Amino acid sequence: MSVCPICGCEKSSVNIIDYQYLGECPVCGYVNCDATFIDEIVAGNIQKHIVSGIFRQLYNENRHKEKKIANAQELLDMVTRPQNPMEQIDRILIFLYKNFKSMTNYITIDPKYDYPLAFATGDKEMASFLKHLFDSKLVNLEGSRDHYSHVRRNDIVHNSNFCLTIEGYEKAQRLQDNKLNMDKVFVAMWFTREMTPVYKNAIEPAISACNFKPMRIDKKEHNNKIDDEILEEIEDCKFMIADFTGQRGGVYFEAGYAKALKKEVIFTCKASESKEVHFDTNHFNYIFWKDEEDLKVKLIKRISESIKS
Ligand SMILES: [Zn+2]
Repeated sequence: MSVCPICGCEKSSVNIIDYQYLGECPVCGYVNCDATFIDEIVAGNIQKHIVSGIFRQLYNENRHKEKKIANAQELLDMVTRPQNPMEQIDRILIFLYKNFKSMTNYITIDPKYDYPLAFATGDKEMASFLKHLFDSKLVNLEGSRDHYSHVRRNDIVHNSNFCLTIEGYEKAQRLQDNKLNMDKVFVAMWFTREMTPVYKNAIEPAISACNFKPMRIDKKEHNNKIDDEILEEIEDCKFMIADFTGQRGGVYFEAGYAKALKKEVIFTCKASESKEVHFDTNHFNYIFWKDEEDLKVKLIKRISESIKS
């Protein structure tokens, strides 16, 4: 047992080895960071409960060993955070939904340990979120009459067992369906120096002009390596723009994956390479572009015609 450097929980097994904190924590899930990152928390660059929330989310998504966190920005870039109390409460619903087995299977949520599930500041805030779900009839509570009255009074009750009601299940399913990132556009393309202006002057402004947000993966790239992070970004995007100029295998793979998920994919390619696109995809309605301006104009037209915002 040791004290977690993030949340202060005394039941953690986080250890410091070679200036790195590593280990499980019942609150944060799994801590995986450099000692320099702890200095940033001490300096107030990032709030503790946010750190716990992100580590816990990475743990739940089995991404906690993906990368050793060196600074606050790196951690913040890894997940989408809830932006208001409603979205925080939605996180609890989604947690219960993902762990749902049946209407009689209750799942323990202990505010003392589980407040990071909702990025809550601590057990008090978590208890008030749970009370709200209970009062709104989105969750059922297992336990004694005493338990009920505690939750009603918004006292902190440890080890309460919750299950979604039909209404709660319905809401969680809806949330899951139009999940989190409905304005994100995944851009699959050959990230090379010649293509940078094509991205900057055509693809990015076309996406922004249609009120979507481009998601460019080249920072994380990847020497043609399609990792889980990329697959997840594709799963979370609203639609994809795939430019096949350069005929990269990764672009074909990413576009195929998006197609399999029934996502809209806009196929583009430089006109001079129109003969080279792979036979399996040349029946898709490609935008063949002459120059950056041409691509931008055609993309804006295609996005506004084919993507419902
Ligand atoms: Zn912790």
